[in-house]
Amino acid sequence: MCGIVGYIGKRQAAPIILDGLSKLEYRGYDSAGIAIFDGEKINVSKAVGRLRVLQEVTHGGETMPGLAGIGHTRWATHGEPSNVNAHPHTNTAGTIALVHNGIIENYIALKNRLISKGYEFKSDTDTEVVPQLIDYYYKGDPLEAISKALHRIEGAYSFGIIFKDHPGEIYAARKSSPLIAGISEEGAFIASDVPALLKYTRNIYYIGEEEIVRLAENEIHFYDSDCEELTKEPVEIKWDQDAAEKGGFDHFMIKEIYEEPRTVRDTLMPRLKNDEIFIEELGMDDEEIRAVGKIHIVACGSAYHAGVTGRYVFEGMARVPVDVDIASEFRYRNPILDETDLVIVISQSGETADTLAALRESRQRGCKVLAIVNVVGSSIAREADRVMYTWAGPEISVATTKAYSAQLIALYLLALKFASAKGTIDSTELHSYIEDLKRLPDQIELLLARQKSIQRFANRYVGAKDVFFIGRGIDYAISMEGSLKLKEISYIHSEAYAAGELKHGTISLIEEGTLVAAVATQKDLYSKTVSNIVEVKSRGAFVLAVTNEYNTDIEKVADYVIYLPETASWFTNSLAIIPLQLFGYYVSVGKGYDVDHPRNLAKSVTVE
Ligand code: GLU
Repeated sequence: MCGIVGYIGKRQAAPIILDGLSKLEYRGYDSAGIAIFDGEKINVSKAVGRLRVLQEVTHGGETMPGLAGIGHTRWATHGEPSNVNAHPHTNTAGTIALVHNGIIENYIALKNRLISKGYEFKSDTDTEVVPQLIDYYYKGDPLEAISKALHRIEGAYSFGIIFKDHPGEIYAARKSSPLIAGISEEGAFIASDVPALLKYTRNIYYIGEEEIVRLAENEIHFYDSDCEELTKEPVEIKWDQDAAEKGGFDHFMIKEIYEEPRTVRDTLMPRLKNDEIFIEELGMDDEEIRAVGKIHIVACGSAYHAGVTGRYVFEGMARVPVDVDIASEFRYRNPILDETDLVIVISQSGETADTLAALRESRQRGCKVLAIVNVVGSSIAREADRVMYTWAGPEISVATTKAYSAQLIALYLLALKFASAKGTIDSTELHSYIEDLKRLPDQIELLLARQKSIQRFANRYVGAKDVFFIGRGIDYAISMEGSLKLKEISYIHSEAYAAGELKHGTISLIEEGTLVAAVATQKDLYSKTVSNIVEVKSRGAFVLAVTNEYNTDIEKVADYVIYLPETASWFTNSLAIIPLQLFGYYVSVGKGYDVDHPRNLAKSVTVE
């Protein structure tokens, strides 16, 4: 989850590393640190809190001379956020410094062994065993020592490493956690993600599983874990630096909400030709589609919520059975998979550790895996049989908005493809659905134009303690995502309930003034949800309703109504989620929180 940047070249390293880390702060931000080789020794500087604290302590890096170094923003997994636990960690002599993203699962066994050999430890982290273990194997050749250490380590990692004895080089290695490398006239770089390097190069090398990298001022060399040299071609990154900047908006989150019409268009339009759906990436003809026995959608967080919507659409439209699973549950529950099943994994970053593990598990059991991923070249994209990219561009805010919207579009397209291949919808219905999809970007624009009224409403609820989101069918899936958006950035306790389920216990929590957001966009379930609204109203709830524009009679029971433009019932999530994202955003802004960096969270969850 953390951010790693490393640099070696002609320029002072520390300011470059700190600037790169500032582009990765969405990845983790409880402490930060930097290690720079000054020509004689390795100097380490660390600070608890956001990166700006470290920037202040080091005057933007100016106080740390040297042309090579590594830096890190941490998202603590082992050991509290503190100076001593912040990275970089070193061997006892301070001659090897290392930054790490991931978890070393066998660190206790390794630590005990190293202690028995006289090594002393300062921190509570799992990471500190690694520089010590490398030290144990080090006989003058960094590559050999790193390789030996990697063979002993279990878990997930990306490392940046510098050796005092090798001042002209930095080293890196990765397994299951992301790491990229790049080279430009300024020097050579490693980083956890592309935005840190865009200023210097668009030609990015994706470091493979269990590979080691050696970087010098003008060179990059790649090796497998047995030190055999590999050849690798860079990938050109097409999107530009602006996409990774705020561009006049107060926060990345609101900028990214405003990018949703474009995101939806970019994910949709390349897959429509002459009003037919073409998903070349699926790599399946109609006969193969018809042979799919069951679909398993596996994901975490918001991507899981997109998957819940996907189940309703696939089952309803294409009549194919769908299981939706949280990846961390799926991977350990010995799922029943048949070789005729299709597994669809969904992840914005393409690095989500549990989703990656679920993908591997499914492939091992002989299932084809289709990945819906936003980040090109990410681990999930590389390991899946097929990749369908969501063209949302870089998403920086920790709370996802546009990537979630793009995932919905990918799922709708797949469901339509399955439905037409299976003949569960005819060509007239298909064309009418395609027309509905094409209208979505403009309809989202329309909802965004009404943001002022949502902001006013949100301001009234800044002090709320509990909020409930209710809905049935797809509206329940929307409620789950609306609730998550609110709680993750505003820290207000919030829960999503299937509207019919509330009275089986949770309704006892409704009291005078409790806010209930009721989503009622599904025509055949509308009157049922209205009855549930009446039930909570009778117990004192204040009801915000989100419904279709023709359901004006809802004003008789709800206190505040947000109307949505008309679309097919399958696609209402794409519209209903917009006011709910805006609501979460404005409550967080109203409370004065750091919207883009909610506490305890990180953007790309690369640990279990
Ligand atoms: N497990 C390491 C720690 O807790 C690294 C966490 C991270 O990826 O930031 O320090």
